[in-house]
Amino acid sequence: MTDQMLSAPEYASATLAPSPNFGPRPDGQQAHLLILHYTGMPDDDQALSWLRNPASQVSCHYYVHQDGQILQLVSEGDRAWHAGVSSWQGITDINSCSIGIEIANPGHNYGYHAFPDIQVEAVKDLCQEIIRRHNIRAEHVLAHSDIAPDRKEDPGELFPWSYFAENGIGHYSAPKSLGDGRFFQLGDAGEPVAALQAMFQLYGYGCPQSGHFCELTCAVVRAFQRHFRPELVDGIADQSTIATLHELLMALQAPS
Ligand SMILES: [Zn+2]
Repeated sequence: MTDQMLSAPEYASATLAPSPNFGPRPDGQQAHLLILHYTGMPDDDQALSWLRNPASQVSCHYYVHQDGQILQLVSEGDRAWHAGVSSWQGITDINSCSIGIEIANPGHNYGYHAFPDIQVEAVKDLCQEIIRRHNIRAEHVLAHSDIAPDRKEDPGELFPWSYFAENGIGHYSAPKSLGDGRFFQLGDAGEPVAALQAMFQLYGYGCPQSGHFCELTCAVVRAFQRHFRPELVDGIADQSTIATLHELLMALQAPS
Protein backbone atom coordinates (compact mmCIF):
# COMPACT_ATOMS: atom_id res chain seq x y z
CA MET A 1 0.00 0.00 0.00
CA THR A 2 1.41 3.34 -0.99
CA ASP A 3 0.28 6.26 1.04
CA GLN A 4 -1.24 9.37 -0.44
CA MET A 5 1.01 12.26 -1.23
CA LEU A 6 1.15 14.78 1.57
CA SER A 7 -1.80 17.10 1.94
CA ALA A 8 -0.55 19.14 4.91
CA PRO A 9 2.87 19.55 6.50
CA GLU A 10 3.52 17.44 9.60
CA TYR A 11 5.89 20.04 10.99
CA ALA A 12 4.01 23.23 11.74
CA SER A 13 6.45 25.72 10.22
CA ALA A 14 7.18 23.67 7.11
CA THR A 15 5.76 24.36 3.67
CA LEU A 16 4.68 21.51 1.42
CA ALA A 17 6.82 20.74 -1.61
CA PRO A 18 5.83 17.13 -2.34
CA SER A 19 8.19 14.76 -4.11
CA PRO A 20 6.92 11.68 -5.97
CA ASN A 21 10.04 9.80 -4.89
CA PHE A 22 8.87 7.68 -1.97
CA GLY A 23 7.18 4.42 -1.11
CA PRO A 24 5.58 2.80 1.93
CA ARG A 25 7.76 1.65 4.78
CA PRO A 26 7.83 -2.16 4.91
CA ASP A 27 5.37 -3.72 7.38
CA GLY A 28 6.21 -2.97 10.95
CA GLN A 29 9.16 -0.69 10.13
CA GLN A 30 9.28 2.67 11.82
CA ALA A 31 11.79 5.47 11.76
CA HIS A 32 14.39 4.98 14.44
CA LEU A 33 17.30 6.73 12.73
CA LEU A 34 17.58 10.40 11.82
CA ILE A 35 20.03 11.07 8.99
CA LEU A 36 21.40 14.54 8.26
CA HIS A 37 22.63 15.52 4.80
CA TYR A 38 23.83 18.53 2.92
CA THR A 39 22.55 19.05 -0.59
CA GLY A 40 25.98 19.38 -2.21
CA MET A 41 24.58 21.42 -5.07
CA PRO A 42 25.38 24.98 -6.15
CA ASP A 43 21.85 26.28 -5.52
CA ASP A 44 18.42 25.42 -4.15
CA ASP A 45 16.67 25.30 -7.51
CA GLN A 46 18.93 22.54 -8.75
CA ALA A 47 18.78 20.63 -5.49
CA LEU A 48 14.99 20.85 -5.19
CA SER A 49 14.22 20.02 -8.79
CA TRP A 50 16.49 16.97 -8.45
CA LEU A 51 14.80 15.84 -5.23
CA ARG A 52 11.36 16.24 -6.85
CA ASN A 53 12.16 14.78 -10.26
CA PRO A 54 10.86 11.21 -10.72
CA ALA A 55 13.91 10.39 -12.84
CA SER A 56 16.33 11.11 -9.97
CA GLN A 57 14.90 8.43 -7.67
CA VAL A 58 16.05 10.48 -4.69
CA SER A 59 14.20 12.49 -2.08
CA CYS A 60 14.18 13.39 1.59
CA HIS A 61 11.55 14.12 4.20
CA TYR A 62 12.58 17.71 4.89
CA TYR A 63 14.68 20.36 3.18
CA VAL A 64 16.10 23.29 5.14
CA HIS A 65 17.08 26.41 3.22
CA GLN A 66 20.04 28.55 4.25
CA ASP A 67 17.59 31.19 5.54
CA GLY A 68 15.91 28.62 7.78
CA GLN A 69 12.79 28.02 5.70
CA ILE A 70 11.71 24.40 5.80
CA LEU A 71 10.01 22.35 3.11
CA GLN A 72 8.43 18.94 3.57
CA LEU A 73 8.78 16.64 0.57
CA VAL A 74 7.72 13.25 1.93
CA SER A 75 5.51 12.19 4.83
CA GLU A 76 7.41 10.99 7.89
CA GLY A 77 5.40 7.77 7.73
CA ASP A 78 6.66 7.01 4.24
CA ARG A 79 10.00 5.77 2.99
CA ALA A 80 11.99 8.58 1.35
CA TRP A 81 15.00 7.76 -0.80
CA HIS A 82 17.93 9.60 0.74
CA ALA A 83 20.39 7.06 2.13
CA GLY A 84 21.43 4.99 -0.89
CA VAL A 85 23.86 2.14 -0.33
CA SER A 86 24.57 2.42 3.35
CA SER A 87 24.82 0.56 6.63
CA TRP A 88 24.61 1.09 10.38
CA GLN A 89 24.68 -1.54 13.12
CA GLY A 90 24.40 -4.13 10.36
CA ILE A 91 21.21 -2.62 8.92
CA THR A 92 21.56 -1.91 5.21
CA ASP A 93 18.05 -0.75 4.27
CA ILE A 94 18.42 2.56 6.04
CA ASN A 95 15.65 4.28 4.05
CA SER A 96 13.07 1.94 5.55
CA CYS A 97 13.90 2.90 9.12
CA SER A 98 14.98 6.52 8.93
CA ILE A 99 13.97 10.12 8.42
CA GLY A 100 16.21 12.19 6.17
CA ILE A 101 16.81 15.93 6.32
CA GLU A 102 18.61 17.75 3.50
CA ILE A 103 20.38 20.92 4.62
CA ALA A 104 21.16 23.40 1.85
CA ASN A 105 24.92 23.84 1.48
CA PRO A 106 26.97 23.65 -1.72
CA GLY A 107 29.18 21.04 -0.08
CA HIS A 108 32.80 20.12 -0.57
CA ASN A 109 32.62 20.23 -4.38
CA TYR A 110 31.01 23.66 -4.78
CA GLY A 111 32.33 25.82 -1.95
CA TYR A 112 31.56 24.23 1.40
CA HIS A 113 30.94 26.86 4.05
CA ALA A 114 29.71 27.14 7.62
CA PHE A 115 25.98 26.63 8.13
CA PRO A 116 24.35 30.02 8.87
CA ASP A 117 23.01 30.42 12.42
CA ILE A 118 19.43 30.86 11.26
CA GLN A 119 19.65 27.58 9.32
CA VAL A 120 21.25 25.78 12.27
CA GLU A 121 18.43 26.94 14.54
CA ALA A 122 15.80 25.73 12.07
CA VAL A 123 17.45 22.31 11.72
CA LYS A 124 17.81 22.06 15.50
CA ASP A 125 14.13 22.78 16.18
CA LEU A 126 13.06 20.35 13.45
CA CYS A 127 15.33 17.60 14.80
CA GLN A 128 14.06 18.10 18.33
CA GLU A 129 10.48 17.61 17.24
CA ILE A 130 11.25 14.56 15.08
CA ILE A 131 13.29 12.98 17.87
CA ARG A 132 10.44 13.54 20.32
CA ARG A 133 7.76 12.24 17.97
CA HIS A 134 9.61 9.10 16.94
CA ASN A 135 11.52 8.45 20.16
CA ILE A 136 14.85 8.46 18.36
CA ARG A 137 17.82 7.55 20.55
CA ALA A 138 20.72 9.99 20.77
CA GLU A 139 23.15 7.59 19.10
CA HIS A 140 20.75 7.17 16.21
CA VAL A 141 21.14 10.73 14.95
CA LEU A 142 23.76 10.33 12.24
CA ALA A 143 25.51 11.95 9.31
CA HIS A 144 25.05 10.54 5.84
CA SER A 145 28.85 10.03 5.91
CA ASP A 146 28.50 7.80 8.99
CA ILE A 147 26.28 5.33 7.14
CA ALA A 148 28.06 5.58 3.75
CA PRO A 149 31.66 6.48 4.62
CA ASP A 150 33.16 5.38 1.31
CA ARG A 151 30.71 7.43 -0.78
CA LYS A 152 29.61 10.45 1.19
CA GLU A 153 31.06 13.30 3.23
CA ASP A 154 27.88 15.15 4.19
CA PRO A 155 26.92 17.14 6.18
CA GLY A 156 30.65 17.46 6.83
CA GLU A 157 33.05 18.65 9.49
CA LEU A 158 31.49 22.14 9.68
CA PHE A 159 28.19 20.79 10.94
CA PRO A 160 27.79 21.93 14.58
CA TRP A 161 27.35 18.54 16.28
CA SER A 162 28.57 19.83 19.65
CA TYR A 163 25.98 22.61 19.64
CA PHE A 164 23.32 20.06 18.71
CA ALA A 165 24.42 17.84 21.59
CA GLU A 166 24.06 20.79 23.98
CA ASN A 167 20.47 20.94 22.77
CA GLY A 168 19.77 17.28 23.38
CA ILE A 169 20.37 16.08 19.82
CA GLY A 170 22.75 13.24 19.08
CA HIS A 171 25.37 11.29 20.96
CA TYR A 172 28.48 13.24 21.76
CA SER A 173 31.63 13.27 23.77
CA ALA A 174 34.07 16.19 23.75
CA PRO A 175 36.87 15.23 21.34
CA LYS A 176 40.20 14.38 22.93
CA SER A 177 42.91 16.85 22.07
CA LEU A 178 45.39 16.18 19.30
CA GLY A 179 48.76 14.94 20.43
CA ASP A 180 51.51 12.43 19.96
CA GLY A 181 51.27 8.73 20.46
CA ARG A 182 50.74 5.58 18.52
CA PHE A 183 48.58 5.79 15.41
CA PHE A 184 47.32 3.53 12.64
CA GLN A 185 47.01 4.39 9.00
CA LEU A 186 46.46 3.02 5.51
CA GLY A 187 48.59 -0.08 4.94
CA ASP A 188 49.01 -1.04 8.61
CA ALA A 189 47.99 -4.55 9.63
CA GLY A 190 47.76 -6.76 12.66
CA GLU A 191 45.82 -7.42 15.84
CA PRO A 192 45.65 -3.78 16.97
CA VAL A 193 44.11 -2.80 13.62
CA ALA A 194 41.54 -5.59 13.98
CA ALA A 195 40.76 -4.37 17.51
CA LEU A 196 40.30 -0.83 16.24
CA GLN A 197 38.00 -2.04 13.45
CA ALA A 198 35.98 -3.96 16.04
CA MET A 199 35.50 -0.75 18.03
CA PHE A 200 34.19 1.12 14.99
CA GLN A 201 31.88 -1.76 14.17
CA LEU A 202 30.60 -1.93 17.73
CA TYR A 203 29.71 1.75 17.54
CA GLY A 204 27.74 1.08 14.35
CA TYR A 205 30.03 1.77 11.39
CA GLY A 206 30.14 -0.67 8.50
CA CYS A 207 33.82 -1.32 9.14
CA PRO A 208 35.53 -4.50 7.89
CA GLN A 209 37.25 -6.56 10.58
CA SER A 210 40.09 -7.79 8.43
CA GLY A 211 43.07 -6.64 10.47
CA HIS A 212 44.16 -4.66 7.42
CA PHE A 213 43.88 -0.87 7.48
CA CYS A 214 42.33 -0.71 3.99
CA GLU A 215 40.76 2.18 2.03
CA LEU A 216 37.37 1.46 3.57
CA THR A 217 38.80 1.55 7.10
CA CYS A 218 40.40 4.86 6.21
CA ALA A 219 37.03 6.15 5.00
CA VAL A 220 35.38 5.04 8.24
CA VAL A 221 38.03 6.90 10.26
CA ARG A 222 37.46 10.03 8.17
CA ALA A 223 33.70 9.79 8.64
CA PHE A 224 34.16 9.37 12.39
CA GLN A 225 36.45 12.39 12.50
CA ARG A 226 34.02 14.57 10.52
CA HIS A 227 31.36 13.85 13.10
CA PHE A 228 33.22 13.46 16.39
CA ARG A 229 36.74 14.94 16.03
CA PRO A 230 36.36 17.57 13.30
CA GLU A 231 39.58 19.47 14.08
CA LEU A 232 41.55 17.14 11.79
CA VAL A 233 39.94 14.90 9.17
CA ASP A 234 42.79 12.86 7.73
CA GLY A 235 41.77 9.18 7.97
CA ILE A 236 44.63 8.44 10.36
CA ALA A 237 43.52 6.75 13.57
CA ASP A 238 45.59 8.77 16.02
CA GLN A 239 45.32 8.65 19.81
CA SER A 240 42.79 11.48 19.89
CA THR A 241 40.52 9.66 17.43
CA ILE A 242 40.79 6.33 19.23
CA ALA A 243 40.30 7.86 22.69
CA THR A 244 37.24 9.80 21.50
CA LEU A 245 35.75 6.62 20.03
CA HIS A 246 36.49 4.79 23.29
CA GLU A 247 34.67 7.48 25.30
CA LEU A 248 31.63 7.24 23.06
CA LEU A 249 31.53 3.47 23.39
CA MET A 250 31.83 3.68 27.18
CA ALA A 251 28.99 6.20 27.28
CA LEU A 252 26.79 3.88 25.22
CA GLN A 253 27.40 0.99 27.54
CA ALA A 254 26.94 2.93 30.75
CA PRO A 255 23.59 2.27 32.44
CA SER A 256 21.32 5.26 31.96
ZN1 LIG B 1 23.54 12.91 1.76
